[in-house]
Amino acid sequence: MSAATTRSRTPDRLCAEAVDLARSAAEEAAAPGVVGEHAGLVSEGDRVVTHFFECKEFGYRGWRWAVTVARASRAKVVTLDEVVLLPGPDALLAPEWVPWSERLRPGDMGPGDLLPTDAEDLRLEPGYSGEDEPGPNSPVSEEMAELVEAEDAEVTAATPANLPVAPSRGSIAAVAEELGMRRARVLSRYGLHVAADRWEEAYGAKTPMAQAAPASCVTCGFLAPIGGSLGQAFGVCANEFAPADGRVVSLTYGCGGHSEAAVMPKPPRPAPPVIDETRVDPFPLRPAADSGSVPVGADEDSAELGHS
Ligand code: SF4
Repeated sequence: MSAATTRSRTPDRLCAEAVDLARSAAEEAAAPGVVGEHAGLVSEGDRVVTHFFECKEFGYRGWRWAVTVARASRAKVVTLDEVVLLPGPDALLAPEWVPWSERLRPGDMGPGDLLPTDAEDLRLEPGYSGEDEPGPNSPVSEEMAELVEAEDAEVTAATPANLPVAPSRGSIAAVAEELGMRRARVLSRYGLHVAADRWEEAYGAKTPMAQAAPASCVTCGFLAPIGGSLGQAFGVCANEFAPADGRVVSLTYGCGGHSEAAVMPKPPRPAPPVIDETRVDPFPLRPAADSGSVPVGADEDSAELGHS
């Protein structure tokens, strides 16, 4: 038996000697050939001992088969308690579990996924009034509830004639509706800041692309402006060949696709042909006769040419 790992309590002698019983139990529970050397034992209590065996299974580096054996008081027979695979001190373990809300990363959401937004989300703040109550014409508003209760009216899809169809004139909700600000919540100052920081980091002046750019986005024809306060520092790139196409870019960002940075050179045009009409170039119709092999009928041809 290998050197035993012991707790303060001395292990029971008969249980400590029951290595073969423990091994056969481990081999029965494990796949064939994956139970390794005896790796020690611990005393779990009076006449209760756990034996450890190395696990040779791939993917379970550092794990050990733990077989607990026990003996009844004044009994000589050691019996089996349980067999289990346990991680050792240097075992390869899965990373600690993290709740999904903390595990979520940008780009993780897929079609059909829902991402609830915390009611206390610091990135958002109330849309138009700061008040929590719903609009006066909302089916869940207090005003509506009172009317329903008082007149025993039914809330239907169609608006009854005696119910208000719009927020009362001059109220904050009415002004908000007039201005088109119907969102219950909008970006808070904090939300604006974190978005701006994120965009600046991804497509800002400090990126290698911007550092090497011939000019910045603020002068680029491909920059589509955006509204709101963020529009003072950001726009959307609309150059399909640029790395930031469709992305929000800082006005200080830039890339080699800048509309004015490099103008495409025109293809060179060949020079027009020059025709010299003041001279006549001799152009022999037949090869010269001095080559030694005069073709048959060459004399006749020459004679004919001489006549013409
Ligand atoms: S093409 Fe380049 S320089 Fe122009 S807006 Fe897009 S990222 Fe900015």
